[in-house]
Amino acid sequence: MSSDQQQRPATQLVTGGRGRETFEFVNPPIVRGSTVLHPTVADMKARIAARNAGADEPITYGIYGGPTHQAFYEALNTLEGGHRSWALPSGLTACAIALQAFVRSGDHVLVPDSVYGPVRRFCNDTLVRFGVRTTYYDPRIGAEIERLFTPTTRVLWLESPGSHSFEMQDVPLLAAIARAKGAISAIDNTWATPLYFQPLKVGVDLSVHAATKYIGGHSDLLMGTVTSNERAWPQLREALHAYGLTTSPDDCALALRGLRSMAARLVQHEANARTLIAWFKAQPEVERVLYPGDADDPGHALWKRDMTGACGLFGVLLKTGIAEAKVHAFIDSLQLFGRGYSWGGFESLLIASFPERTVTPNPFTGRLFRVHAGLEDTRDLTADLERGFAALRG
Ligand SMILES: *Cc1c(COP(=O)(O)O)cnc(C)c1O
Repeated sequence: MSSDQQQRPATQLVTGGRGRETFEFVNPPIVRGSTVLHPTVADMKARIAARNAGADEPITYGIYGGPTHQAFYEALNTLEGGHRSWALPSGLTACAIALQAFVRSGDHVLVPDSVYGPVRRFCNDTLVRFGVRTTYYDPRIGAEIERLFTPTTRVLWLESPGSHSFEMQDVPLLAAIARAKGAISAIDNTWATPLYFQPLKVGVDLSVHAATKYIGGHSDLLMGTVTSNERAWPQLREALHAYGLTTSPDDCALALRGLRSMAARLVQHEANARTLIAWFKAQPEVERVLYPGDADDPGHALWKRDMTGACGLFGVLLKTGIAEAKVHAFIDSLQLFGRGYSWGGFESLLIASFPERTVTPNPFTGRLFRVHAGLEDTRDLTADLERGFAALRG
């Protein structure tokens, strides 16, 4: 069955990228390979010409992807309303390439103060060595972003919500301003997943995912993806090809398998998150929960306007005056929640969270933790939290 733009997103997750199956299996074959044989010289030339003309990426050599890659890319394009998608070795690689593909020495990029930490380090330590300057901005800046653009601003980076501090951004507004200023807009869309938000449909040029999280969904895959509109694709493709960035077909098959069940998983992640959030809100030590899907969150109106669901990741801010050692005792006493990086897998995680800030206040130090609600029974999860809060109070 071919993908159909009229289908709803949960259906597209199941049907996207189909049609390359062999022997009537439901899934595409995992085709491993470097060399692709061409029947004639003329055919070799024609495929390269087709690529240069912007046609579908023809299969010419393993580094540019084969049928397994293409099935996954097509599924992403269908979901996001994209022109082309590409898979990279990690979410961080996807962020780094989406930024650097559009800049040269002397250029400038705008990055929200809530950005995923390693992207901040890429800007501060690597882009800067190539003469590219970064200005950090308040993620809630709105139309005021306009005055931060300079004649050399090439990329407006977005992350909504931030994956530690959870501020929602007015994405359609910011993307429209970037376009008016002649800059590319790119968003880290990992929290919303391609199911709950399609940024290209509201004017963003590039949607980036850590497919490591919900797309993979089982804590056994490291992958990033970039989905581009037609405008940004030629320049992005140049960078992807310049570095020879590629992934294994086995990893693409895992990512595609993750997509198939993602709608069902996300429903449960969100339901479990909401149950845990209700529990946290009832604890006297908790100042507030950071989750745009929650009606009390400052980003709730934007979330409701732009997104069709929320995932299982949220922050919990404790009241001031609780010793950091007590917070650590709480986290260390948990037996079901894991202490580990990443999120989006089947398992619940809970870590102390230290967002870095350079242009906005940082009210978080020493009293913020981040929860990933996995797929366990929430009665077992809240029992674990009861034990943890006993340690916090002890
Ligand atoms: C995890 C994460 C990344 C990076 O993904 P990796 O695959 O771990 O490199 C990027 N952005 C956000 C918001 C993330 O949570």
